[in-house]
Amino acid sequence: MQRSAAILPGGITMSARRAWHEVLRALAVAAIALMWTMPVAGQSALDDRARAMFPDADHVGAFTGTPPTAEVGREGQLLGYVLLTDQVAPIPAYSGKPISVLVGIDTAGVIRGAEIIAHEEPILVIGVTDDALARFTAQYTGRSVDDTFKIGGRERPGTVRLDGISGATITMMVLNASILRSVKAVAEARGLPLAPGAEAQISAATERMAAAQPTNTAQPDAATFEPIWKEVWAERTLRVWILGAGLLLLTVILFLQDWLTRYRRLISTLRIAFLVYTLLFIGVYALAQLSVVNVLTFVHSAVRDFRWETFLIEPLIFVLWSFVAVSLLLWGRGVYCGWLCPYGALQELVNKAAQKLRVPQLNLPSLVHERLVAIKYVILVALFGLSMQSLPDAVRYAEVEPFKTVFALRLDRTWPFVAYALGLVAISAFNGKFFCKYLCPLGAALTIPSHFRIFDWLRRRKECGRPCQTCATECPSQAIRPTGEIDANECHYCLDCQVTFWDPYKCPPLVEHRKRAEKHGRTLDRLPLR
Ligand code: SF4
Ligand code: SF4
Repeated sequence: MQRSAAILPGGITMSARRAWHEVLRALAVAAIALMWTMPVAGQSALDDRARAMFPDADHVGAFTGTPPTAEVGREGQLLGYVLLTDQVAPIPAYSGKPISVLVGIDTAGVIRGAEIIAHEEPILVIGVTDDALARFTAQYTGRSVDDTFKIGGRERPGTVRLDGISGATITMMVLNASILRSVKAVAEARGLPLAPGAEAQISAATERMAAAQPTNTAQPDAATFEPIWKEVWAERTLRVWILGAGLLLLTVILFLQDWLTRYRRLISTLRIAFLVYTLLFIGVYALAQLSVVNVLTFVHSAVRDFRWETFLIEPLIFVLWSFVAVSLLLWGRGVYCGWLCPYGALQELVNKAAQKLRVPQLNLPSLVHERLVAIKYVILVALFGLSMQSLPDAVRYAEVEPFKTVFALRLDRTWPFVAYALGLVAISAFNGKFFCKYLCPLGAALTIPSHFRIFDWLRRRKECGRPCQTCATECPSQAIRPTGEIDANECHYCLDCQVTFWDPYKCPPLVEHRKRAEKHGRTLDRLPLR
């Protein structure tokens, strides 16, 4: 007896699944073999770094006390202290883990140096050079522990303005807050000179720390400080409102889709305008492109030490993910991929322009396409497997997404990254959303919760696929099977097929209906649904 073959995403049969399984296993093993482990600075390396901050020192002690510091001295005389920010003010950043910075302060309350020791920040793992980081931290050297630092923007009285790093503003804000809070807490605890205003501010923080810690050996907790995310939200209120307005408009479009898609020109103009908004506002200006790194971080955080603070740190990403979570359950992954992804919007706008210029479209045959779509799932599984071993390594390999190159780093990278990102955009001129269809691990990840979607609002007729192939040949995502069904895993909710569905001059069953009506001298006042 022959058993019928179950179908996997991309139309793979059960027999093919075993082969894919082997490929996945081999990929995971290869990825793990290629792993690079971040060196963790040992005590002697820390000593060397501390001596570089205090060139006269002949002694660096062990980290002791509350907050923990190591004394630095010469011939028995105390020169200052070094501290690790993750031990004094551990503020979780994007990765959910605090950044560890070694900071030296002398007995006059002057910062003698700051150096990043360890971190798992996606933007810093690859993309931001060590030189750029060193230039950033060097700005603290010679400043007083009394100073208040501000990243970018205008110089304000009472604050020292620091040059940020393009595309890493929030990580730099977290880093700055960690350094600022750590040095002030240490200065207060060790009796270093502080201005009266700063003293009062730190006393309050120290009291809160003391209240939260019954023994003097306990480490301070991030919760004893004012959460940094509140500061970031206050600074980005306008952007949150603009994003909120865009999401509201998109919700209205989705709810009115049956009406709007009857007006080809209106929906086409609305859609192009929305894609431009997505590209320019969400992508270029607000740098709120979502990434598979967010998914990996979320999963890790959920199984280890979940904190809302980790996700609230970037307001636009938080709002966008909240909307995407709801839209996945209501309509599937298409709403994000078709409307809100800046790199997707860039590819689609390039493809639309190419079509206007009559650039030939080279879509792959359905049989080949249905097998190639599986590549993105393989990439997702490999990244996930790798992240189990080391999140920073997974972040490195997540560069398969060209998002960081295009938006966060604005193409300011070495040529292979730029060539990869622009090459994919160029391919999309001939083959719409090539990257999305075959390579994007984020798109693959979004299909998983899409299986639980509640609505199925994309209309089909019984003639779709049998025999009509009009929508199937036009679908830019090749998401309509030759049999007429829409593959929700691949659909980007562009609504093109819905415009055709309502077009009495294009949709063949409707054309017939219209002709029949005209033959009998009637006008087509109501369009049949099925
Ligand atoms: S598949 Fe990836 S790049 Fe394409 S629209 Fe979706 S998330 Fe964006
Ligand atoms: S044409 Fe239809 S099936 Fe294809 S992506 Fe657009 S909405 Fe989805």
